[in-house]
Amino acid sequence: KPPIIVRDLAVALGLKPFKLISEVSQATGGFAGINSSLDEPVAMKIAEKYGFLLEVKHRGEAVAPQKVKTADTKAKIEEEEQKNLTPRPPVICILGHVDHGKTSLLDAIRKANVASGEAGGITQHIGAYQIEFQGKKLTFLDTPGHAAFSKMRARGADVTDIAVLVVAADDGFMPQTDEALKHAQNADVAIIVAVNKMDVKGANIEQVKSQMQQRNIAPEDWGGETITVPVSAIKGTGVDQLLEMILLQAEVLELKANPKAEASGVVIESEIEIGRGSVATVIVQRGTLRVGDALVCGQHWTRVKALFSDKGEQIKEATPSTPVRIIGWSGTPDSGATFRAVKNPREAERLAEEAEQRTRKEATVAAAEPKEVSVEQLF
Ligand code: GDP
Ligand code: MG
Repeated sequence: KPPIIVRDLAVALGLKPFKLISEVSQATGGFAGINSSLDEPVAMKIAEKYGFLLEVKHRGEAVAPQKVKTADTKAKIEEEEQKNLTPRPPVICILGHVDHGKTSLLDAIRKANVASGEAGGITQHIGAYQIEFQGKKLTFLDTPGHAAFSKMRARGADVTDIAVLVVAADDGFMPQTDEALKHAQNADVAIIVAVNKMDVKGANIEQVKSQMQQRNIAPEDWGGETITVPVSAIKGTGVDQLLEMILLQAEVLELKANPKAEASGVVIESEIEIGRGSVATVIVQRGTLRVGDALVCGQHWTRVKALFSDKGEQIKEATPSTPVRIIGWSGTPDSGATFRAVKNPREAERLAEEAEQRTRKEATVAAAEPKEVSVEQLF
């Protein structure tokens, strides 16, 4: 077979040659030049990353190989992708000031679900849970607080679709409410305000609404667009309305994903469990995750031996927006890190090792840079 040359592939993919060269170096761990030849699997993988299906065509020995039918193939992939797009449940996080009731609200939502008769209920905290309401699924991140939210965002993991901003009716907007609001706005997620503690004396929803207006997120009944739901997490009132509004918002967002793609997603939480090793709760964002899949997540990898649902039950596969626990990683993946399924465990291990080497190289470079040393540190 004639070789695939970096220059030709760059042209076919519409990439600047230096960009492709850096991709190749990343993929192979070696150096490449504009005239280097590429192995087909490497070329294929890079092409895929940029949304192309690589089709190597050889029109007789003497003719230069025609690598990619750029426009055609791209259109074909997009059509295929469009065809496979399927509605997926929304992923929701709960943000707000300390003590305004985030944890209580997450509990109330969880309980609403248990009451609806789902077998087993949700017993363990795994960082995310999924409920069913009016026949529709909703996934909640069970890590309240914008620290976790921003950590994930900082890693480029946009897993959240809808943020529920909890504001206590007796307290109104507080510094962390504003901070959370800012984070949600920066992340460009839909915001729903839950005015909590409606049962307490001194609850003043009108004040909260006027504070919302001051912040340019006026509630719907004040002529704005922000869905606002009065709730009491403790009494459980308003929780159904809140869930209804979330579903409504999700419908407007038309959330979709391709369940037929190779699985990829984000790590929500991870820990080392005695007897089980490294365990990670992930949310699948694209594709379907299955037992037997080989996954790579930064410097770590695994071959999925078992998948556990948020109810602790073994499941065979997880579709988009499903939280799932995976045990037996080679190391503990960081929350916010993205994972993806690759061809086989060997490939996963190789990619993980490459990532580790890159990190080590970066660490060495960082260590070599002169640091400022303060007097305190010296003594
Ligand atoms: P978080 O810090 O935002 O997670 O807040 P928590 O859920 O821990 O709640 C803080 C306190 O407020 C706890 O003592 C809760 O019992 C109480 N609380 C939460 N929601 C309500 C509510 O709707 N009504 C009343 N009366 N108390 C609530
Ligand atoms: Mg809490």
